[in-house]
Amino acid sequence: MYTLGIDIGSTTSKCVLLKDGKEIVGSSIVVAGTGTDGPSQALENVLNSAGVVREDISYTIATGYGRKIFQGADGEISELSCHARGVHFVFPDVYTVIDIGGQDAKVLSLNDQGRMMNFAMNDKCAAGTGRFLDVMASILKLDISDLEKEAAKAQNPASISSTCTVFAESEVISQMAAGTDLPDLVAGICQSVATRVASLARRVGIKERVCMSGGVARNAGVRNAMSKELGVEIVYSDMAQLMGALGAALYAYDKAKDSNPTVS
Ligand code: ADP
Repeated sequence: MYTLGIDIGSTTSKCVLLKDGKEIVGSSIVVAGTGTDGPSQALENVLNSAGVVREDISYTIATGYGRKIFQGADGEISELSCHARGVHFVFPDVYTVIDIGGQDAKVLSLNDQGRMMNFAMNDKCAAGTGRFLDVMASILKLDISDLEKEAAKAQNPASISSTCTVFAESEVISQMAAGTDLPDLVAGICQSVATRVASLARRVGIKERVCMSGGVARNAGVRNAMSKELGVEIVYSDMAQLMGALGAALYAYDKAKDSNPTVS
């Protein structure tokens, strides 16, 4: 039996296709979020990659910022619950999830069963989100996926003192003009995101193991800075950006089983 999770974010659309609630048989990420054709593209891509047609899917759950306006799902569940579920599936021993997406950052604390017990969220300010990194990458004329390579070469990470994205943008431009090395600048930018989100994490309380999820987790510069900032190891999977969609696909499996109890 196939179930599908679709995570419709502010900047990207992600799908995970699950077989029998256990096996991930397909996934897709399209850099276009809610209000675009990103969700339908992501859906088409995952079906094509797995050689599955829409009619083969028993149940679909949508999650993410755009989940309520998406027409193609059988139900919707909040991204907090879906991230918790997805992370617990991949890392059953994780108790703290730091999820940094395109426009927000969330820290979740989980219990032994992977159920969310507490959370803190920043969705008011671009600093400490993927948006901050996207803006900085564009000023530095780098691709978002190149930030980690640059940060890894840093000798003396720059200090970005502005907490506001708009002011930080001017600060980065001034530092470029003053001749700060690119790697040092990029490492300072990654550090700035980690510092912001670490303070959110401290509000929730850090219990190991700690996992990072969301698109920004793909950046090792931010993961390493976060690890130093919090003094803990950060657990990471290649599935980081897909955790919400994975959780949605797992919830979809529960729903499909409820409506057909003869299925194991
Ligand atoms: P949302 O669900 O809010 O749309 P995501 O969790 O998909 O957000 O994260 C999107 C963010 O992830 C982007 O704003 C970008 O900063 C970051 N990102 C995306 N791809 C990469 C990559 N290859 N390497 C590093 N960071 C990335």
